[in-house]
Amino acid sequence: MTAPLLQLQDLSVSYGPVEAVHQVRLDVNEGEIVTVIGPNGAGKTTLLCAAMGLLPATGSITLAGERIARPSVEAMVARGVALVPEKRELFGEMSVEDNLLLGGFSRWRKGQRDQAQRMEEVFGIFPRLRERRAQLASTLSGGERQMLAIGRALMARPRLLMLDEPSLGLAPLIVREVLQVVSSLRQHGVSVLLVEQNARAALRVADRAYVLEMGAVALNGAAADLLNDRRIIDTYLGMG
Ligand code: ATP
Repeated sequence: MTAPLLQLQDLSVSYGPVEAVHQVRLDVNEGEIVTVIGPNGAGKTTLLCAAMGLLPATGSITLAGERIARPSVEAMVARGVALVPEKRELFGEMSVEDNLLLGGFSRWRKGQRDQAQRMEEVFGIFPRLRERRAQLASTLSGGERQMLAIGRALMARPRLLMLDEPSLGLAPLIVREVLQVVSSLRQHGVSVLLVEQNARAALRVADRAYVLEMGAVALNGAAADLLNDRRIIDTYLGMG
């Protein structure tokens, strides 16, 4: 059996005396879309930031069998991990194209290929960005901005993409469009760890899911099973 692409073991994160993430065990296998769902304040963002080396944590982070001794953003990026933060953090006064070029800056692979070629590949994934390549990022719609944020992270050719609430602030139809693209990323050799408060949308595109409650994994399993799980339906999916 090959080692998981990402393996978190007993990961705990505290803000001072308050433990926000408690002993989380989570795997993402090659080619998988894994989602972490849970209510506001459950610790999803904290977990993602710790997994990216942005926050100190106890426990271990292993990438493709290699235990990361001192997790840091640099260590994670160097091993092909990219994060799209909740705030998207685009450069509004720069064009779509220039925002993408900035993302290509930290490519982890040696023998870097041409950025223009990578941009074409990203445009292949997000044709809408190609149409708007010269437009300022600040003038894009919410969905387009999210696509640009994901596209920018993809410029670095990550093998694992971590996404923090890509559906935030988007209309339902656009959420579906963005998440469809996210689920198609496995065809491009990218595995995904998707943090979402929109449980239904996330479970529809993910292979497996973890439910985080008060910092701990309350439940995990195949996304399709969780979509039909009474506890999940009652707590997170409402009547629909
Ligand atoms: P949301 O979906 O609302 O972003 P979340 O599941 O991502 O929620 P976190 O943002 O990770 O949850 O927050 C987890 C807990 O840690 C919350 O109780 C929050 O108040 C607390 N917390 C988050 N950031 C900090 C911080 N910088 N300092 C202190 N406490 C924090």
